[in-house]
Amino acid sequence: TPSKEGKMFIKALFDYDPNEDKAIPCKEAGLSFKKGDILQIMSQDDATWWQAKHEGDSNPRAGLIPSKHFQERRLALRRPEIIVQPLKVSNRKSSGFRRSFRLSRKDKKTNKSMYECKKSDQYDTADVPTYEEVTPYRRQSNEKYRLVVLVGPVGVGLNELKRKLLISDTQHYGVTVPHTTRARRSQESDGVEYIFISKHLFETDVQNNKFIEYGEYKNNYYGTSIDSVRSVLAKNKVCLLDVQPHTVKHLRTLEFKPYVIFIKPPSIERLRETRKNAKIISSRDDQGAAKPFTEEDFQEMIKSAQVMESQYGHLFDKIIVNDDLTVAFKELKATFDKLETETHWVPVSWLH
Ligand code: 5GP
Repeated sequence: TPSKEGKMFIKALFDYDPNEDKAIPCKEAGLSFKKGDILQIMSQDDATWWQAKHEGDSNPRAGLIPSKHFQERRLALRRPEIIVQPLKVSNRKSSGFRRSFRLSRKDKKTNKSMYECKKSDQYDTADVPTYEEVTPYRRQSNEKYRLVVLVGPVGVGLNELKRKLLISDTQHYGVTVPHTTRARRSQESDGVEYIFISKHLFETDVQNNKFIEYGEYKNNYYGTSIDSVRSVLAKNKVCLLDVQPHTVKHLRTLEFKPYVIFIKPPSIERLRETRKNAKIISSRDDQGAAKPFTEEDFQEMIKSAQVMESQYGHLFDKIIVNDDLTVAFKELKATFDKLETETHWVPVSWLH
């Protein structure tokens, strides 16, 4: 049960198996965990190895886990795009961190030179996911709903699921009205299909970061504004937003408290079986008619899902496999019911 005063909880953003860790002083003392697990920190006395246990685990024995700092550094070193500066070993007494760090390197020749970031802010630690401090959160009945972000590869059925949700309760769920610079068609009304604005205003709004995402199609701009999300939430509705996963990190604010659902394809065999007679609209910017799925579409969907999961998996609160649409929809519905009534772990920064 949450609301444990003074206790510190973290969400693990990576999988950890002490048996695979060459740096750990004692494998038996390690605590294994999976991405998404909630851990309670028992001790941070050591700079390199924290002591932790799984949240809710009644066994009082804590295990060793790599500290955030240590894990960030060794992950950053494996990523060439992150600048890490070589540092000559001085005669200074080496810290626990450096000792363990050296142990973690296999190459004997490099033992002489340590690596250290010039400044800790030289790499974006959000790009090296390790842990995030979390706290229990339960929505009060007078509070706005959390923003629900749906992500998934093209063709996975995200739009069908979204449509089914909207139809299931039009009073409860809502979607944003996008902005466009194209001319209004006779049957359209401003604020319904789109909010129609000038190119000049659109460009100014882009400059002022008013959009969550935008794109260009046939010489016109289209985009979803932050205010359009606010206006759905202000109507006391659950706002369903589908975006590219890279936009999620900009939405992770106290105001929106986004709950991110990843719609994942089943195995390629199941895709072939279940999507035999289905059709795909190949891309968002393609108004072309829906075409039957091809083998390449299936492969592309699986590959795209794998990339999304490996790059952004640490931002997902829930993964729903869309094998059978009816089953996936039930699971989605159940997820929403829980979201609105139960306690969830959210970043501590959202409650400050
Ligand atoms: P139309 O002008 O025919 O209504 O739409 C043209 C294209 O703009 C469609 O392919 C549609 O998917 C795309 N579009 C509509 N709304 C948005 C939006 O909010 N963002 C982006 N990037 N594209 C959009």
